[in-house]
Amino acid sequence: EQEVVEYRKSLAIRVSGFDVPRPIKTFEDCSFSSQLKNAIAKQGYEKPTSIQSQALPIVLSGRDIIGIAKTGSGKTAAFVLPMIVHIMDQPELAKEEGPIGVICAPTRELAHQIYLECKKFSKSHGIRVSAVYGGMSKLDQFKELKAGCEVVVATPGRLIDLLKMKALTMLRATYLVLDEADRMFDLGFEPQIRSIVGQIRPDRQTLLFSATMPGRVEKLAREILSDPVRVTVGDVG
Ligand code: ADP
Ligand code: MG
Repeated sequence: EQEVVEYRKSLAIRVSGFDVPRPIKTFEDCSFSSQLKNAIAKQGYEKPTSIQSQALPIVLSGRDIIGIAKTGSGKTAAFVLPMIVHIMDQPELAKEEGPIGVICAPTRELAHQIYLECKKFSKSHGIRVSAVYGGMSKLDQFKELKAGCEVVVATPGRLIDLLKMKALTMLRATYLVLDEADRMFDLGFEPQIRSIVGQIRPDRQTLLFSATMPGRVEKLAREILSDPVRVTVGDVG
């Protein structure tokens, strides 16, 4: 088995890793439930964007991924759709508590956008999504998390605060997304990210998305991802 570096379609799409799944052409190529397909259609998403067509089969196969693509390329659905599948695949959801999917984003605005995207796709599946970030009452967030959720979308600082308050446990967490990792590092969240990752079981699936890959982000990726596939779309970092 050898690591393959492959250019797909054009030089703009570069994929590297071991045994990389082939890209999909349509959402039909993913074995999504009819509920999820309906939710995608309702968004008006007719076909996957470049990053989605490469990343969806990789993430759906359970692999870790480093996704590098510029803003506006559709990265959110590339991690939210497989997360819904991942959660629905868990047996006996009610047995443990705490989120299954944990998504970290650099700012409250981004966390809120991701929260809305999660809600669109999870509503029809009975998946509970909580958003935790600064500027909102910590007590309200504490109560909401205590009531239970399957997904938490958070800024790193606020998530650490709530973990310290024991508002949630990471016992069930098996799907971790670090979105806009470069910006989280720029904002000084590296220690918080490392602390959060350290509280999640090592056999989790980990997804890291970034517009650029500075050395410190590259180092973190090497430390926390297992045998990742790297997908770069466009002329970036
Ligand atoms: P990124 O995270 O890469 O900056 P987003 O996930 O925020 O990008 O997506 C950018 C915009 O594209 C959003 O308005 C989103 O609703 C839209 N979008 C995502 N995927 C598709 C798709 N397959 N077809 C059409 N629009 C899409
Ligand atoms: Mg994004």
